Amino acid sequence: MLSLTIREVSLALREGRISPTELCRKCLNRIKRTQHLNAYISVTEELALKQAQEAETRLHRGVPKGPLDGIPFAVKDNFCTDKIKTTCASMMLKDYTPPYNATVVQKLFDQGAVLVGKTNMDEFAMGAGSTDGAFGPVRNPWSYYPPYREQQPGAEAEADWVVTGGSSGGSAAAVASLTSYMALGSDTGGSTRNPGALCGLVALKPTYGLLSRHGLIPLVNSLDVPGIMTRSVSDAATVLGMLQGQDVRDSTTISAPSLPTELPEDFDAKNICVGIPKEYHAPGLSEETVAQWSRVADMFERAGARVEEVSLPHTQHSIVCYHVLCHAEVASNMARYDGLEYGHRSAVDSSTEAMYASTRHEGFNDVVRGRILSGNYFLLRQNYEHYFVKAQKVRRLIADDFARVFASGVDVLLTPTTLTDAARYSDFIQEDNRTRSAQEDVFTQPVNMAGLPGVSVPTALSRRGLPIGLQLIGPALQEQKLLSVARWMEQRVGFPSITDYGDSNDTGMTKREQTLAARGTNH
Ligand code: GLN
Repeated sequence: MLSLTIREVSLALREGRISPTELCRKCLNRIKRTQHLNAYISVTEELALKQAQEAETRLHRGVPKGPLDGIPFAVKDNFCTDKIKTTCASMMLKDYTPPYNATVVQKLFDQGAVLVGKTNMDEFAMGAGSTDGAFGPVRNPWSYYPPYREQQPGAEAEADWVVTGGSSGGSAAAVASLTSYMALGSDTGGSTRNPGALCGLVALKPTYGLLSRHGLIPLVNSLDVPGIMTRSVSDAATVLGMLQGQDVRDSTTISAPSLPTELPEDFDAKNICVGIPKEYHAPGLSEETVAQWSRVADMFERAGARVEEVSLPHTQHSIVCYHVLCHAEVASNMARYDGLEYGHRSAVDSSTEAMYASTRHEGFNDVVRGRILSGNYFLLRQNYEHYFVKAQKVRRLIADDFARVFASGVDVLLTPTTLTDAARYSDFIQEDNRTRSAQEDVFTQPVNMAGLPGVSVPTALSRRGLPIGLQLIGPALQEQKLLSVARWMEQRVGFPSITDYGDSNDTGMTKREQTLAARGTNH
C-alpha cells in the first residue's frame, strides 16, 4: 500500500481496500522505522489521526472530497502550519508556532489530505544537500535500497550513505521512503527539483505566481515557489490542480483563469519540438547523466518529435546573478529576525545592539550569516548599481533567451536536473555550502530566474544504483503541456518502480529491511 501513487491509493480508499486511519497508521509506523533518515523535524501524529478519522467518515458516507481525501502528505518546515512548529531548520525559529496555515497547506487540508509531519531541510532553505540544517543532515533512502546497498562492502551503512540533495531533502526522503504520498518543497534555485532528482521522484516547480507563497517563509521573494514532489507525473498534475490560483494574500499570484491540469491520454510526441540547450553541457556533468540525456533525446526523436539544439547564451552568467539577487533578498528578509518580533532572543542584554547581534549570532548558522553579509554588501549605496541592478538586468536577458527559444517553436527544453547522482555525505561536506550550491544549481536556477515551470522526471539508476533525473522546462503557464511531455517520458524511460525496492508489508518494513533485520543487521 505504502508504495502506491496517489491515484492508486485513492482508488484503494474508495473501494474500501484500506481505510484512511489504517493508511495513516501505516505511514506513522513507517516514519518511526525510518527515523535514521532524519526526514522529519516534527511528526504531527495527533493531527494526522484526527484528519484521517474525518476522511474516514466522509468516505463511509460516500462523500469524499476528491482524489486527495485521506492521503498522507508531508510539508517542508518552511511552510507555516497553524499551531504546529515551523522551524526552517534554524535555531532562530526552533520554537516558532505560526497562528495560520500557508495557503497551499490550507488548500490541501480543504481537500481532506492528512498531514503526517514537517520535513527537514537546509537552514532557511539555503543549500543543495539538506546537510546544513540545525537538526542534522537528511539521509537519502536510496542509501538503503538494494541497487546501492548491495554494491557496498559489508553493511557499513553509517559510513557510506548518500545525501538527498536540497534544500527540500526531508520532503524528498519522506516520499521516497514511503512515509507519505506527496510532499511540498520550496524551489528558489532548484530546491525541489534537485532532491526530487536525487531521490527518484517527480518534482515540479510551477510557473512563478501560479501558486501562492503566502505562509511560505521567504528566502528570495522574487524567485520562491512552492514545489510538488510525487511518485508519478499524473499525481503532480493532480496536486497542481488543487494548489493553483490567485490569492489575495499574495500580490504576486497571477490572476489568470485556472490552468487545465488533466493530462490528455492521447498525447503524441510526434507533434512536439524538444530543445536541447547547448550551454547545459556544463563542466562536472557525469558521463552517465550525459548518456541518459542523449538516450531520452533519441527516444523523443524516434517517436517522431523534432529534437533541436538551441542556445541560451546568457545561461553562463545565471548562477552569479542568482547569488547576487539571492543574497540581497536574504539580507532584507532576514532583518525581521531581531529577537523582538520572532523566534530566538539572546540572553545578552547589555544594550539593544548587543542583544540584536548575539541573537543573530546564536540563531543563524554560518551559511545564513554569510549570505546576509554579502547581501548587505551588494545593497550598499555605492555597490547597488554595480551588483543588484546589474544582476536584475542580466536576469532579464536570461528570461529573454528562454522566451526567444519558445517563440521559435520549441515546446519544451530537455536538460539534466543535476550534474551527477547523489554524493556520499562524507564527500559532499568536503566543499562549503556556497561552492556546492554553485555546482548543484547550475541547471535549475535559470528556470527560477525566468519564472518558468520545470519538472524533474526520474530516468534511470546510475551504475552506483542511485537515481538520475532529467528536467523538462516549458513556457510560463504551459504546465499541462509540460506535464504531458513529462508523462510520455515517464512511461518510456523504464525507471524502476519504487515498489521493487520499497514495498512494505504490514510491519511497515521494506522487504530489504526485513532481510537485514532477520540477519540481525541494525540500520
Ligand atoms: N541551492 C540554492 C541556494 O542555496 C537553492 C535553494 C532553494 O531553492 N531554496 O540558494
